[in-house]
Amino acid sequence: MSRVFNFGAGPATIPLEVLEEAQKHLVDYHGEGMSIMEASHRSKMYDDVHNEALSLMRELYEIPADYDILLLQGGASTQFAMVPMNLSLGGKAEYADTGSWSSKAIKEAKIQGIDFETIASSKESSHNHIPADINFSDDADYAYITSNNTIYGTQYQTFPSTKAPLVVDASSDIFSYPVDWSKVDLMFAGAQKNAGPSGVTIVIIKKELLTRAKDNVPSMLRYSTHADADSLYNTPPTFGIYILSLIMKWIKGKGGIEALQKLNEEKAAILYDAIDNSDGFYVGHATKDSRSLMNVSFNIKDKDADLEAKLIKLATESGMIGLKGHRSIGGLRASIYNAMSKEGIQALVELMNKFAKENR
Ligand SMILES: *Cc1c(COP(=O)(O)O)cnc(C)c1O
Repeated sequence: MSRVFNFGAGPATIPLEVLEEAQKHLVDYHGEGMSIMEASHRSKMYDDVHNEALSLMRELYEIPADYDILLLQGGASTQFAMVPMNLSLGGKAEYADTGSWSSKAIKEAKIQGIDFETIASSKESSHNHIPADINFSDDADYAYITSNNTIYGTQYQTFPSTKAPLVVDASSDIFSYPVDWSKVDLMFAGAQKNAGPSGVTIVIIKKELLTRAKDNVPSMLRYSTHADADSLYNTPPTFGIYILSLIMKWIKGKGGIEALQKLNEEKAAILYDAIDNSDGFYVGHATKDSRSLMNVSFNIKDKDADLEAKLIKLATESGMIGLKGHRSIGGLRASIYNAMSKEGIQALVELMNKFAKENR
């Protein structure tokens, strides 16, 4: 069997150990005579998986007791609407616009008809940085940020301190560093970048926010519905939650989230060093103070699209896929989530160095 190094942005690479473990138990789950996919979501067999996913998340991510963890569907994009539906009190909500995903969240606030304001934006510089000193109003209904901008390769180095509840879209960097929960009131993420397959959406919410939703918010779109039912109000995405539980075990085996953060720093440094030491052949999109440890977006000098295509083709031929940059900025993007190995990054850097030498 030969596995590629998958640098795709999402759905993204999953640790081989996790896939093999799932494969081993796919047809006959630990002697149950059926797959976990076929089990009732009300069965003991599934319940154990569900609870293990939740308890390992709480343990590894150090989620305080006054937060609920919800396992939902609809992707991060549904959260763009659920956040204003559930958190707006009729006052003003404030957003920081640091890329396409923030813009989409703002669009949904608009559709909900709530009062909102974009109080900081990096749009004028094609989202190449996180604006400094973002100041959310103390009395905002909530303050909204995107912790990691998957397309542009920028990431908050620290979260802003707010009096208003801070909402964080962490779809592309959840579980990649320890979180200071004293700053965060609601965090959400689609699982398919850093936490498993698509189909599961993780919401970590401070309990005191659960009572805000107005009466006309549909049951399925109310956080309290899922909190009250331990995320078993309706059929949850059981197989995805199973894989999520295996990923949590994998993280634990790696030494936890702090250990992963260290590894992520080392991994990203290998790639950023290659860019910085290329004598301008490679040009990173993000300013240095805003660089993401998860998505590294870069161009070849003068945005040479022919050379960029040539490098992407060469990489593909060498078993490194998913490197084409998002159409909005072109170039290349290496997504190096928790599950991307150091070996994968070293292989990419080796190719990049050789390519630069030959095409300078
Ligand atoms: C991928 C992504 C989304 C969209 O996720 P879906 O689950 O496809 O809706 C939202 N925000 C960020 C930061 C992302 O990276």
